[in-house]
Amino acid sequence: HAKAGGRGKARFFEPQMEQQQRARRVMEQDLRAALAGDGFSLHFQPILDCETLELRSFEALLRWTHPDGTNVSPAEFVPVAEECGLIVPLGRWVLEEACACAAGWPSPWRVAVNLSPAQIRGCDLPAVVAAALARTGLAPDRLVLEVTEGLLIDDPDGALTALRRLKTMGVRIALDDFGTGYASLGYLQRFPFDTLKIDRSFVQGLERDEGARAIVEAILALSRSLNLKVVAEGVETAEQLRFLRQHRCDQVQGFLLGRPQPAAAIGQLPLPAEHLAAV
Ligand code: C2E
Ligand code: MG
Ligand code: MG
Ligand code: MG
Repeated sequence: HAKAGGRGKARFFEPQMEQQQRARRVMEQDLRAALAGDGFSLHFQPILDCETLELRSFEALLRWTHPDGTNVSPAEFVPVAEECGLIVPLGRWVLEEACACAAGWPSPWRVAVNLSPAQIRGCDLPAVVAAALARTGLAPDRLVLEVTEGLLIDDPDGALTALRRLKTMGVRIALDDFGTGYASLGYLQRFPFDTLKIDRSFVQGLERDEGARAIVEAILALSRSLNLKVVAEGVETAEQLRFLRQHRCDQVQGFLLGRPQPAAAIGQLPLPAEHLAAV
């Protein structure tokens, strides 16, 4: 309802805002119910050696089936879960589930898990990770935690302490969506990253956009001199793969090489198409 005495534009906009807030509260409740039941699942997307196309790891990607049966994108519901604090228990579930799956894979394969800033701020992350590893029996060096630049800006000191402890445990750290955030390059030196993931917006610009090519080349050169490995995300075409190979990117991930899929499908993965080996 518009406030009594509301005038002009305020009166016009308010019902729409209320509607959005109501939709958000409903989604919050649905997310809580999904976590209490079994409304969430993980899909896993392969990450391959850029040169040999050998499987190196899988990224765990959260999936939610809405009560109405539709699949909702994590880009839509993760921000809501972050805002209402549900991301902390939900993130714990993701960690445990991903580690439990990976514990059954051939041992060279790692699993990469996305973290929200709130999971570092809102809880004792090293203890949560240690508990997940202990419960599932996964070796720490088979777990990669993907963090974003937002984490570094929010609370750099707290993040640095937590990430250093995780590194000491043997867990690997990747900086996700690199190039899209606002973190200064100094963070690359200060934080204990093993890997940079080049955001797919740059990878997808490789054919058309000279600027994107220059940025990708610069990221690869920078990473080499800082001794970081590079994963290119969102590789969709053979042309993009060819460029990344020519410029000695370490690993690749994208629909060209494999879509995210349920854990049960991983054992039956077809090898990447043979023609790609010669690209
Ligand atoms: P992200 O971590 O950068 O994950 C990569 C996203 O790119 C995934 O989207 C993946 O399906 C998509 N992708 C992979 N290859 C391609 C490609 O070739 N082309 C295109 N167009 N897309 C590709 P998804 O699964 O929708 O996840 C979106 C984002 O949601 C993730 O981006 C991540 O930021 C967040 N997210 C997903 N799972 C979790 C989670 O368990 N916890 C948290 N905190 N965030 C998550
Ligand atoms: Mg990621
Ligand atoms: Mg990413
Ligand atoms: Mg992303």
